[in-house]
Amino acid sequence: MTAPAPRFKRVILKLSGEMLKGPLAYGHDRGAVEHIANEVCDAYRLGIEVGVVIGGGNIFRGNSDAASTMNRSVADHIGMIATVINALMLQDAIERQDIPTRVMTAIPIDPVAEPYIRRRAIRHLEQRRVVIFGGGTGSTHFSTDSAAALRGAETEAEVILKGTKVDGVYTADPRKVPDAKFLETCTYQRALVENLNVMDSAAISLSRESNLPIIVYNLAQAGNTRRVLTDGDIGTLIGDPESARFRELAARRTPAPA
Ligand code: UDP
Repeated sequence: MTAPAPRFKRVILKLSGEMLKGPLAYGHDRGAVEHIANEVCDAYRLGIEVGVVIGGGNIFRGNSDAASTMNRSVADHIGMIATVINALMLQDAIERQDIPTRVMTAIPIDPVAEPYIRRRAIRHLEQRRVVIFGGGTGSTHFSTDSAAALRGAETEAEVILKGTKVDGVYTADPRKVPDAKFLETCTYQRALVENLNVMDSAAISLSRESNLPIIVYNLAQAGNTRRVLTDGDIGTLIGDPESARFRELAARRTPAPA
């Protein structure tokens, strides 16, 4: 049986740092890191150019309780450095599967990783290297969700995959609201106005400006990344329903949106 054809040429995968900690309260769980690496390698083996933007929430967040008495900019610098630690951790796990990678950071750490340069990042992707973007946007008061939207736009990716621990986007938190409904598709506008748990508003706005669709899906389940990239029938698709790109992706959904 031939493998289903991938729907994309270039994607950005946004991973929250939380995905690396598995059952632990903090840090890195070896099994969880390996699982994420497997998902990235799976996408790569489909022939897709893969960029990964990684968060730092398993180590430090600038808006966490631990940072509440700190200067926010200092806390955000620590958070950005946390994302670089995660980028290196993931790089090591991916390279153990013999897949070439580059870590590029928005804050220069010369002996450790390459500085982020847009044209060079595109070149790496074209050369079939997984590019892991560390350091977020390089600016405080932003999140790595915004970094994913930014790197997606800059590298002309076709979609942002937001890997989470839930199946997609619901009208409310299903753990608290029993009749919360799963959304197959959602507009940027609705995600913003209803403050749905997709990405932060800066990231959604930037994606909307770049007409960059977002697919929120359950990354905890093995094989889901490949399924999003081929069958395209899981997760929640967010975008502009007027755009051809959104309509093409939405056509795979059951039921197809009206
Ligand atoms: N951060 C930042 N600027 C950025 C990206 C991240 O200052 O462009 C800091 C911020 O403190 C954030 C932390 O890095 O809380 C970790 O990133 P994020 O919270 O997005 O990680 P995730 O929730 O995805 O694990």
